[in-house]
Amino acid sequence: MKVSIDPELCYGSGECVYRLPSVFTVVDGFGAVVPGREDGDDDPEVRDAAERCPSQAITVGE
Ligand code: SF4
Repeated sequence: MKVSIDPELCYGSGECVYRLPSVFTVVDGFGAVVPGREDGDDDPEVRDAAERCPSQAITVGE
């Protein structure tokens, strides 16, 4: 799993951080992947967080 956030789309709602703080964090008011957690911890909730991102800024690849 490879998780990334498009900074052009994220507007800092913080929902991903609320849902999964082990993988997502806030940097300068915008969502970011916690350094070293780009594999999403292989947690299925990462896909859920991506689907629920209000700006569709989270990408989950293989
Ligand atoms: S849920 Fe989406 S818009 Fe909100 S902080 Fe996370 S990546 Fe950004």
